[in-house]
Amino acid sequence: MVFPAKQSAGEMGNKSLFWFRQDLRLCDNPALFDAVQAAPGKTLLVYIFAPQEEAPWQPSGASLVWLHHSLKALQSDLAARGAKLHIFKTGTKERFQSSREVLEFLCSKLEIGSVFWNRRYEPAVIARDTNIKAALKEQGFEVETSNGALLNEPWQIKTKEGKPFQVFTPFWKACLSQMDLDPPLAIPDLKLENYGVLDGECSLDDLNLLPTIAWDKSIVEAYTPGEKKAQALLLEFLKKKVASYHHDRDLPHLVGVSRLSPYLHFGEISARTIWYQTKEFCEQNKKVAEEAAHFLRELGWREFSHHLLFHFPTTTDAPLRKDFLHFPWQSDDVFLKAWQKGQTGYPIVDAGMRELWQTGIMHNRVRMITASFLVKHLLQPWQEGAKWFWDTLVDADLAQNTLGWQWSAGCGADAAPYFRIFNPMLQGGKFDPDGLYVKQYVPELRNLPTKYIHAPWEAPPMVLASCGITLGETYPHPIVDHGKARERALAAFQSLKATSTRA
Ligand code: FAD
Repeated sequence: MVFPAKQSAGEMGNKSLFWFRQDLRLCDNPALFDAVQAAPGKTLLVYIFAPQEEAPWQPSGASLVWLHHSLKALQSDLAARGAKLHIFKTGTKERFQSSREVLEFLCSKLEIGSVFWNRRYEPAVIARDTNIKAALKEQGFEVETSNGALLNEPWQIKTKEGKPFQVFTPFWKACLSQMDLDPPLAIPDLKLENYGVLDGECSLDDLNLLPTIAWDKSIVEAYTPGEKKAQALLLEFLKKKVASYHHDRDLPHLVGVSRLSPYLHFGEISARTIWYQTKEFCEQNKKVAEEAAHFLRELGWREFSHHLLFHFPTTTDAPLRKDFLHFPWQSDDVFLKAWQKGQTGYPIVDAGMRELWQTGIMHNRVRMITASFLVKHLLQPWQEGAKWFWDTLVDADLAQNTLGWQWSAGCGADAAPYFRIFNPMLQGGKFDPDGLYVKQYVPELRNLPTKYIHAPWEAPPMVLASCGITLGETYPHPIVDHGKARERALAAFQSLKATSTRA
């Protein structure tokens, strides 16, 4: 592609371009706000689909379904204000090969003077954005980037020694002591010049984000992506759930949590909005302040995950704790498939894996149980679990997924010690005492008396028969014996310690 000769900033056009990425919202969108301020009435709004630029962690599966509906909601919110989202796709067979080509083409063709976007923190995206920014600047266009995703930039929080944190509590303390947030921004005036249909632009359907076989039906039924729904969920959470959050957040059959994670991932609501609205709610309802702090602390874990990914970018694939490079994993396709399909014979694990497959979400407590089961009971590499979650979660987020898996495997920052092995029966009994969650997602066990629901193999044959259950036929036998699996995991960990002592 041929570009015009380099122009000086003064000769550049007086229009601005705003590049929507993982900030699919109009409220509290700093880069959108700045783009409109810079060129009132003359901002071009663009979305570019370029998953190949995020490889090897390009969005896929359930997350693309969410993206489709989220973009649709954004288009409709913009249309209601008379504005239009111009969509482009890229790839070897497309008119444009890359995001950079799209931006350079639009900037030169439409006499854009300045380009605005909100920053992202995944390693591949940082590299891509750095390259695009340099190229645009080199050609004389202005580029302004903002923080639209986090409460604090990952590089702002440092230990006394000026290093990144690797333990959550001091990290969060440091965040809280430095927290100096401006209030969320209003929606800018989006009465914008009509640019018509641009050369090379495509429709949302042309992006082919939805699957050809309709496995997404239950996802579509379960959620309404989009900014309006995100705001409604936050309000509902504050009014009805925050007061009992600390207790209820661990009970998977209750929706005692906010369910905001996919909205946060796609930027349909900002962390700053959640922070401000929660604080405001606490001002009016002082009794809930303590509970609300637990909720905000979870946002802190989200911040921590981005802090870690930024400072330790290889941790998406390699353990943060280097001794775990020698961990004796025992890759086994049969074990992995049984876990993925929710056929391990451990009801709480199977319920979680089936919830994930059916709805694209899994409750946090059950994410911890299923992840621990894969890496400790089955000795499968945590990277396999991370990949499966990546494909099946609607909230798949590189920073949070990496933290969650490294935490579960015991090889990450502030991780659960490897020798602490979740007992699926005890976890089930504690967090799903009446078996309601198991019965919802493992319906073949729904008639089983509660005392056996987390260990069906302990039920007398007569009881099983009266419930229509034949172990090994209607529901699997446990894929491994809990006691033996535990011993095996501890032995694997001991061997690791021996190796690192010798090294
Ligand atoms: P709430 O309890 O309402 O919390 C509010 C927000 O805080 C969440 O939306 C989320 O952004 C953040 N948050 C809550 N818990 C955590 C946590 N443990 N770590 C980091 N941030 C947290 N979360 C993702 O968003 N994407 C992922 O890909 C992801 N993968 C995970 C993998 C594993 C193995 C584990 C153990 C956890 C993972 N999590 C992930 C974290 C957590 O399970 C989800 O954020 C949470 O279940 C979302 O539900 P919620 O929005 O109702 O959370």
